Order: sequence, then structure tokens, then C-alpha cells
Amino acid sequence: ASQLVWLRNELRLDDNPAIAQAQQGGDIQVLFIATPKQWQQHDESDAKLGLKAASLNDICQNLAKKGITFSLITVDYFADVPSALLTFCEENKIASVWFQQETALDERRRDEQVTQKLLENHIECHALESDLMVPVPVLTQQQEPYKVFTPYYRRWQTMLEDRARPPFDEPAKQGKAIKVEDIKPDWAGEYRNDLWLDEESDILQKLQLFCQKKLKDYPDKRDYPAMPATSTLSPYLTLGRIGPRRLLHTIQYYCAEQNLHWQDNDWLRELAWRDFYRQLLTHFSELNKEKPFKPETDKLTWNDNKSDFEAWCEGKTGFPIVDAAMRQLNQTGWMHNRLRMVAASFLTKLLFIDWRKGEKYFMQTLIDGEFAANNGGWQWSASTGCDAAPYFRVFNPQRQSEKFDPDGEFIRHFVPELSPLSAKQIHAPTTAQCKELGYPEPVIDYKKARQQAINAFDELKQ
Ligand code: FAD
Repeated sequence: ASQLVWLRNELRLDDNPAIAQAQQGGDIQVLFIATPKQWQQHDESDAKLGLKAASLNDICQNLAKKGITFSLITVDYFADVPSALLTFCEENKIASVWFQQETALDERRRDEQVTQKLLENHIECHALESDLMVPVPVLTQQQEPYKVFTPYYRRWQTMLEDRARPPFDEPAKQGKAIKVEDIKPDWAGEYRNDLWLDEESDILQKLQLFCQKKLKDYPDKRDYPAMPATSTLSPYLTLGRIGPRRLLHTIQYYCAEQNLHWQDNDWLRELAWRDFYRQLLTHFSELNKEKPFKPETDKLTWNDNKSDFEAWCEGKTGFPIVDAAMRQLNQTGWMHNRLRMVAASFLTKLLFIDWRKGEKYFMQTLIDGEFAANNGGWQWSASTGCDAAPYFRVFNPQRQSEKFDPDGEFIRHFVPELSPLSAKQIHAPTTAQCKELGYPEPVIDYKKARQQAINAFDELKQ
């Protein structure tokens, strides 16, 4: 085959535009270039790297069944990719390379260098649209990027409707099945394979089951961490294990089946947030450089207290819902969205620790860690971001706990030492109960900490 599909963050055979389009021109082969040192610099977690490696193995096996060759090469950094790719192309007599664009700055720079190098050497380069649901810029009438989600979303909805197209078919067979060994790269980390799926067919089935059984109740139940009401598809969406057309197609299908209106479906709206944050990275390049969207917030003097930060990381703050959330993250690599907001608000507003520290810890621990969504979520919580929570809105962990974990079921699961407490007591144990149960006392006084944070933001305005 003289055509090469270069996979990066679209690790799938189904609904893969690069594979489908390249194959129209003849036989293909598929390549993945691992950059473990770059990933480390990007704080990619062990869990995510473990799932990535397992996903690549799945791809390799599935391609082999179709007689398509898959190669995995390893370099250190993105900067090493252009020459590694060129060498591969020369050795394998590749005439054209197909890949999908990405939105984060380092990735875009890498691709510019790759494109230049390939073109200089007379190799064709097909840089296809990125993996967003709406991959073209979503702009206001003045041709400006949106800074507020709701109007962005309205425009996005109409554009999505215009662009609704069937998913791309998986690749056709190219010949006899090839025999291949399992791929076990040395950069692969550990992940909970009792919780997370590595086979594409299982992931697609999970998507279907979710849309069939849970779309309807999603709006009412999505905020309760003890209920399995959200899709938990994020690790797969992060690695591009499901394509955007497949997502839309499945939503449309099951909405029709249940007489739901797909256009304003609440779950689809979450996928719009994903697009929104990814697209922000192309419009506002400072976001890629550890800068807040609101530059004035860089004047805040954050608290450098090491033991506060460690208590938060370890789930030992003395605030049960925060601790349960952090322990869920540490044990499973995933955290419920409501709790990500609670935990992030706690770190940035109540401990008043720099959002960048929380962002980094999340990336280093999450199995679904994705720069755009994570940065967006942290800046939203810290009130430093685009369309962020207003600074005076500080989540009250006890109220959040009482509201979204009313029976304390979620807390009991992840903070078992508090199980003896009643549904009423479990959200804020007394000093005596903490002592008796071996649970830490609160690291801060909520009211005082909240006021201090608001004062600090108020001062910025003067
Ligand atoms: P569902 O409720 O089933 O939503 C479906 C999908 O929509 C998700 O899988 C995800 O791809 C997307 N999505 C949902 N909410 C958001 C959102 N607010 N922003 C962007 N995309 C969204 N999501 C990540 O994928 N990676 C991250 O690193 C990440 N870090 C976050 C950090 C903070 C501080 C916050 C507040 C949110 C973060 N999120 C992140 C967004 C969100 O919490 C997760 O996507 C969601 O919890 C994943 O669970 P789910 O698949 O069951 O979601």
C-alpha cells in the first residue's frame, strides 16, 4: 500500500474519516507514533496510557483480520515525529499520508512541521477536519469566536443539523488475515481493566445501551454520583474510540425510537461543551500556555500550603463529599462531573490553591484526562475562564453533599470509615465522630475561607 493513515487521537476503525477516505484510493496501511516523553510532559496519567496501549492492541488485531498492516513506532517528543514519519514513508514507499487535525497548540505545531517535511519530500498530505461534532469554526455574525457557551451552543445546534451525515464505514478487507502478536509497549501504565473497556465493539455497544436505556432520565439523574446515570464514556471519547458521526447517529436513532427531540437533547449538549472547550484552544492561544482566560486573575496570590494540597489529593480534607470524590478519582481514574466541580471549587476557592495545581493533578490521575476539557473545567471552577462561574459563587460542600448524595450512599462507598453515620450526620461529622471513626477534621472553616476568596477576587476589581 502506498497510502498511510496516521492515527493519533482517533483510535478506532468505525467512523474514521482518514481510514475511509484513504481507502477509496486503494490499499492502506496504518501507523501510530508513540511519544512517551511528550505525554509525560503533558501529564498524561498511567491509567490513560494503559488504556491507550490496550486500545492500540485492539486496533492492531482488528486491522490484521482485514489484512491491513499496523505499525507502532516510538520516539521521545513531538519534535522527533517529522523525521521519524518521513523515514517510515521512505522505507515503506508511501506516497500520501492521511490524518485528522487536532486543536491544541503543541499538536498543531507538530502537524505543521510534519506537513512541511512531507511536502518538501514530495509526499502528499491530507490533513482532514478535526474530530469535533462541528469541526469548522462556530462564529458569531461578526465572525468572532463565542466567549459564552449558550449562544455558541445555539449556533452549534443549527450547524450540526446541517452537517448531520452517516458515519463512515469501517475499512474494507484488503486481503487475507495477517497473524500478529499482542502489542505491549513499555510506556503502557496500569489501569483498572475490570472497569474500563479496550475493545471497540464493546465500547460501541456501551454507547448504544446508554442511548437506549439512559438518555431519557439523564437530565434528572445526571447530577447524582451514586446513580450510574451518566455514560462513563469519557475515557473512550478522549482517545477517539468513538467517532462524532457515530455519536450523533446513535443519539438520533434512539431519540426517534423514544419519541425524544434529538436537537435539544441534554446529553448532546454535553458533547457541545466538549467541542466548545476544544475550539477555544484554537481561538485563544494563551489557554495553551498555562494562562487564565481572564488575565487579571493572574494577579491573585494563591495559597502555597503543601499539606492542604496533599490533604485534597489524598481525600483527607475532612469534607466527606470532597474526600469521597478524590478517592473515587484515585481508585478508578474517573470522577463524576458534579464532583469534579465540587472538588475543583473546593481546591481553588476554599483552599485557595492555584487552579493549575489541581489541573495538573487531575491530568496525572484521570483515565479520561483531556487538555481542553480539563483546562476548561478548572478555569470554569476557579472563575478565571471563558464563561466561568461568577467568582462569588462558591460551592458549599456540605450543601452539595446533602443535595446530590442525600442518603450518603456515595460517601459510604468511598469513605467507608463514615458508614456508621446516619444520612443526616454523614455530610458533616462532628469533632467527636471524626475522632471516634478515625476521620480527619475539616482542614478549613468553610465560612471564613469563602469570605477570604471573595475578598481576594473583589480586590482585583479595585
Ligand atoms: P456524560 O455526562 O455521559 O457526558 C458525555 C460526554 O460529554 C463526556 O464523556 C465528555 O466527553 C463530554 N462532556 C461532558 N461534560 C463535559 C464538560 N463539562 N466539558 C467537556 N466535555 C464534557 N472531561 C474529560 O473528558 N476530560 C477531562 O480531563 C475533564 N476534566 C474536567 C475537570 C473539571 C474540573 C471539570 C469540572 C470537568 C472536567 N471534565 C473532563 C468534564 C466532565 O466532568 C467529564 O467529561 C464527565 O464527567 C465524564 O463522564 P461521562 O462520560 O459519564 O459524562
